[in-house]
Amino acid sequence: MHQYDYDLFVIGAGSGGVRASRMAAQYGARVAIAENKQLGGTCVNVGCVPKKLFVYAAHYSDEISWAEGFGWTTSAPVFNWNILKNNKNAEISRLNAIYGQILASSNVDIIYGDARIVEAHKIVVDNKTYSCDKILIATGGKPFIPEFPGKELAISSDEVFHMDNFPRKVVVVGGGYIAVEFAGIFNGLGVETHLIYRGPLFLRGFDLDVRGFVAEELTKKGIHLHFNTEVLRIDKLNDGSLSIVLSDNTSLVVETALYATGRKPLTDNLGLETINVHLNKDQAISVNEHFQTSQANVYALGDVTDNIQLTPVAIAEAMAFSNHLYGDKTFNLDYQNIPTAVFCQPNIATVGLTEEQAQAQHPNIDIYKSSFSPMKHSLSGATEKTLMKVVVNQDNDQVLGMHMVGAEAGEIIQGMAVAMKLGLTKSALDSTIGIHPTAAEEFVTLRKPVPRSSD
Ligand code: FAD
Ligand code: NDP
Repeated sequence: MHQYDYDLFVIGAGSGGVRASRMAAQYGARVAIAENKQLGGTCVNVGCVPKKLFVYAAHYSDEISWAEGFGWTTSAPVFNWNILKNNKNAEISRLNAIYGQILASSNVDIIYGDARIVEAHKIVVDNKTYSCDKILIATGGKPFIPEFPGKELAISSDEVFHMDNFPRKVVVVGGGYIAVEFAGIFNGLGVETHLIYRGPLFLRGFDLDVRGFVAEELTKKGIHLHFNTEVLRIDKLNDGSLSIVLSDNTSLVVETALYATGRKPLTDNLGLETINVHLNKDQAISVNEHFQTSQANVYALGDVTDNIQLTPVAIAEAMAFSNHLYGDKTFNLDYQNIPTAVFCQPNIATVGLTEEQAQAQHPNIDIYKSSFSPMKHSLSGATEKTLMKVVVNQDNDQVLGMHMVGAEAGEIIQGMAVAMKLGLTKSALDSTIGIHPTAAEEFVTLRKPVPRSSD
């Protein structure tokens, strides 16, 4: 007889929860997972996956307009939102089902409903109580929209994937990943797009050159960037459109206002007050290096903690967690040099330190940089440019950071991240033979340092 119904009860079947429960079960633990929406969580349902499908959709307008220079005669393309939305929904339903099969074949019990902790070893889902030795909280986050008059008229990324009507004109508020990606999506799909950001330049935390370069590229694409600007209020007009009143005394009339002003951890209504789980000031769950909370048998990982909010990070944390509790404790999770991409047009991808971070940490750095027109655009007629930048520690030749803005930047930087993990040096880049003709070969042909931003 077991003391508890389960060895591990996971709350939340998103990127982190699904991987943790599957791995723990494969190690031999008796596992249940509770989910109150769809299997797969944010990434599959209202995040990475549908977003990337929309990014692909948005690229077609460019590709079609560029095709003429290559001899194609095209007629004005017409975009149909309902086709894209329905096809996207079908693909996500397919993925939801696959997640269900994967969990079932790993012998994880799926329990649908709102899970709430009632005691350190007891969880209630829809009036049914389950006992467990350990609890893993992997409830992720939810969009945050600040308070202002007319807030209820704005939508968040949760709703943007399901809009009934496709807008002709939008404002996107925020200057982070989601705002920049959705400004690109809307613009590519033919919508007049205004991005409103409160600071002087968006994408805070990214390399300064990258931020400036992206601002220029998005402007060339026709996105209206309003920096140093805030939304004062939103009013609904008689025809149903929205009047967005801005801090620069202007206003915009649009059909949709998408707020992408960050996310908050989902820690309310979990019953955390009944046990001893410490939250930090942003309501994120505090954990140690093994994802243990201040309540010894309760663990947390992914977006509900204050670590980096990326799917591969949640998955890696899940593997480290399961391996530590139920496996051979050999999985080492390294938060250094996590690569990341912003899927605007052109993409941003980056790994390692920005020039500004490197400058603050190392006395002597070299910067290698190139901005150029990709070969494709010699015939496409487009003015889109690519930026590549490498930050090197002059003292030991170590590559500290690599940054790219350009087509398929995410695909290129992923390989560079592997090299950096293995201790990439500038000489190794220099002695690598390029693949010609590609944009990526530029990374192995950058020979002369350029002045640093601080010079
Ligand atoms: P989630 O995936 O959010 O899963 C949490 C799950 O818990 C949810 O299914 C939720 O319904 C469930 N839940 C919550 N409370 C309860 C409860 N009480 N009972 C039962 N179930 C509960 N990351 C990338 O790496 N690349 C991208 O391109 C990318 N794009 C993104 C685009 C958007 C628009 C957004 C919003 C995010 C994006 N992210 C991306 C971030 C990524 O989605 C998250 O970092 C990742 O999903 C976090 O995984 P998680 O397991 O911590 O939480
Ligand atoms: P981010 O944290 O990336 O950006 C939030 C933006 O909103 C910032 O520009 C911030 O400005 C601004 N902001 C915050 N509060 C306010 C406010 N009160 N008024 C006006 N502006 C405000 O969050 P996102 O919502 O874009 O995305 C959440 C996370 O999801 C990302 O950080 C990322 O980890 C993940 N994600 C990853 C993606 C990918 O991998 N491609 C894609 C999408 C999301 P300021 O900088 O001035 O603080």
